[in-house]
Amino acid sequence: MSSPVDLTLAGAAAALRDGQLSARELLEATLDRAVLTEAELHAYLTIDHQGARAAAAAADEAIARGDHTGPLHGIPVAVKDNMVTAGLETTAGSQILAGYVPPYDATAVAALRSAGAVIVGKSNLDEFAMGSSTENSGYGPSANPWDTGRVPGGSSGGSAAAVAAGSAQVALGSDTGGSIRQPASLCGLVGMKPTYGLVSRYGLIAFASSLDQIGPIARTVEDAVTTLEVIAGHDPLDATSYRGAYPDYRSSLGRGVDGVRIGVVSELAGEGIHPDVLSAFRSAVDALADTGAIISEVSLPSMEYALSAYYLIAPAECSANLARFDGVRYGLRVDGATVEEMTARTRAEGFGPEVARRVLLGTYALSAGYYEAFYGQAQKVRTLVIQDFTRAYAHVDVLVSPTSPMTAFEFGSRTADPLSMYLVDVCTIPSNLAGGPGISVPIDLDTSNLPIGFQVMAPPLGEETLFRVAAEVERVTAWNDRRPPLVEARS
Ligand code: GLN
Repeated sequence: MSSPVDLTLAGAAAALRDGQLSARELLEATLDRAVLTEAELHAYLTIDHQGARAAAAAADEAIARGDHTGPLHGIPVAVKDNMVTAGLETTAGSQILAGYVPPYDATAVAALRSAGAVIVGKSNLDEFAMGSSTENSGYGPSANPWDTGRVPGGSSGGSAAAVAAGSAQVALGSDTGGSIRQPASLCGLVGMKPTYGLVSRYGLIAFASSLDQIGPIARTVEDAVTTLEVIAGHDPLDATSYRGAYPDYRSSLGRGVDGVRIGVVSELAGEGIHPDVLSAFRSAVDALADTGAIISEVSLPSMEYALSAYYLIAPAECSANLARFDGVRYGLRVDGATVEEMTARTRAEGFGPEVARRVLLGTYALSAGYYEAFYGQAQKVRTLVIQDFTRAYAHVDVLVSPTSPMTAFEFGSRTADPLSMYLVDVCTIPSNLAGGPGISVPIDLDTSNLPIGFQVMAPPLGEETLFRVAAEVERVTAWNDRRPPLVEARS
């Protein structure tokens, strides 16, 4: 493997800073990798050759002037296509937004640009981020570089496939119920959902506003930290964005876990988890104990209901958020004799079946007479989930579980039954309901050579301890930046 795209972000950043590598060379190698892999992977919906080349040239000129802006300077990044990009088509994976070119950048995208990052393109996703496999994309699914007959996870599956394949060094994803952590887990990467409010969501096409967060997908914990430090920060354009100070997350790396109290969530580390996943998870926990962590089993009884609550709250919020796609303001319009008919036809034609299902479910759960029984109940369960977490964090510093109950599954194996797809997110959804950060770190391969992810969760704003433990998981399990067979074959 001699291509610079196979370096970690940290490695590439050092080579760029020292002048051993130019941003142009790195970008061309990235675009070459995309040429070799995209026919199989379909990680991108749009590759912005022109914009990326201009950004790489500008990054090189800045370095020549002595103007190095930090670790993302000249680094090729993929952006999930539900974040708006000025002048670059943004579809959220939906046919209803085909051809939509936003006039502005999402705040997270603007932060990447000011840090000197090179935006390679827009990565594929389940339509409006609703799904766990990218099979709900309105433009066809992405594949997993570890086995192209399997899904890369979702909804940020294109972001994960690109980073795993080397057609981006790092990517932005969004996580409403697991959409950063689960694809990272299935593609052998680190994926991190920050505390709700830590990263601005201005310009993120809203799915479920009380749950959505933007975060990084990277090859190492350090690379995730580097990316998070660029995109985190208060934004007056997002009323939910956190106003307090941000600690230096990097300093928590390499500190080990001596004396750190780690709780294994019993409800998420037993029944329903594939035996290969469970045994890799348990070995990683043992390795943490060997390096000084204090391990205990913690019961969070409300976990049993978290998934059901999520599948009422998320659809309820999406039914409101997606009302704006009415054929008038954005994207597709299918004409009709009246405004009502035009709107109905536009939505019937523009939304795929899963999005339609969610809008219908959500509208039903919010309607008069049913509101209390469904949405109201779900909100009560959400409170119980938060209380369970708060109680647990009185005794432990972090909670851990597998990220996903199973490794990458075959295309079509879960599409016939929506419930079987929903169950994929059982371990990740609770952190979205409670608002705290969560990270997935690759730990091992299963018997079919597919990556297994380890999840660390922390209380809101507990990123320092989260990264501290995640970095130790990475160290003790010796994943060693393993690369997928597709990359070995194509590089
Ligand atoms: N798979 C979950 C869903 O379909 C989570 C999606 C997400 O996090 N965006 O809703």
